[in-house]
Amino acid sequence: MAEIQNDRSKQIIKVSIVGIITNALLAIFKAVVGVLSNSIAIVLDAVNNLSDALSSIITIVGTKLAGKAPNREHPYGYGRVEYMTTVVIAVIVLTAGATSLKESIEQIIHPETPDYGTISLIIVGVAVVVKIGLGTYFKKRGKSLDSDSLTASGQDALMDSVISVSTLVAALVYVFFGLSLEAWLGAVISLFILKAGYEIIRDATAKLLGERINSDLSKAVKSTICAIDGVCGAYDLILNDYGPQRLWGSVHIEIDAELSAAQIDDKTRLIQQTVFDKHQVVLHTIGIYSINHDAASTALREKIYQTIKQHPEVLEIHGFYVKEEAKEIRMDIIISFDVKDRKQLHEAIVKEISALYPDYHFHVALDLDFSD
Ligand SMILES: [Zn+2]
Repeated sequence: MAEIQNDRSKQIIKVSIVGIITNALLAIFKAVVGVLSNSIAIVLDAVNNLSDALSSIITIVGTKLAGKAPNREHPYGYGRVEYMTTVVIAVIVLTAGATSLKESIEQIIHPETPDYGTISLIIVGVAVVVKIGLGTYFKKRGKSLDSDSLTASGQDALMDSVISVSTLVAALVYVFFGLSLEAWLGAVISLFILKAGYEIIRDATAKLLGERINSDLSKAVKSTICAIDGVCGAYDLILNDYGPQRLWGSVHIEIDAELSAAQIDDKTRLIQQTVFDKHQVVLHTIGIYSINHDAASTALREKIYQTIKQHPEVLEIHGFYVKEEAKEIRMDIIISFDVKDRKQLHEAIVKEISALYPDYHFHVALDLDFSD
């Protein structure tokens, strides 16, 4: 696992260095061209490229910090630093958007006369092509390396190429028709930059808050567990995200009530190893529900499941166990987050089944809908 992380960090840093060099060169060329042609749009474009170089530097710093080995104070490692650096990049994007919006509005109020030379236009044109290439490269590598920072930088670069295209179009319109559009275009594009910044910050903060596990992953992990001999069901899967490719969590399984502690120990260790090998997910805790398989309990279970399933808001029932000698039945139910008062429905269900089987005492735990 450490080796996978290490290689991933190296790849991210390599991609980021390509970004820093390209953006720094673009910024220098555009700044010179912008000043020579008296075009505020082109100068802004240069500032934007500089902010991209800066966000690549932040990505490197973030990846380096995130790769730090876990220690006593931070036993879960430093993976979440990457989400924080993504937020910093989003703030830079938002600042660039706000600044260019302000500049564009000022230009609309007090228009300046630009003076584009042919060479300037060629340089801006080449910059567009370079930027599109860079943005596509970043996005592709970001996706394959599962790095939100890289993907965010790639998105930003593609937005920037749109800006450069518009400055180019505005310049051509000015050269041929004598009409200066760059301020208006600048204002519209600033709004797009602000939107992109908002989306990056929204995704990163969602990860910091803790998100629902990707449905494909939770279903795959559960089916891997259920495929293991002797496991009757897998439920309550919780995975905490301690940074990209660092998912740690717990699960509950249904298992035959007759198994010994040693046999259960065997099973849980096998589950942990199989799930890690297949999904690179660490299950540090596996809770056990005992299941009875005798005919009377099975009939009871089927009848009670049927009754509860009359409520479509109940998403799942599990951990059903009958303690015949004590006249006790226990189980867990999951009620959809869409139900406003889950406790009220829970109480109603317990009453309903208690009325159906007045001889038994019911313990019904209300679980949260953590994963699909
Ligand atoms: Zn449960």
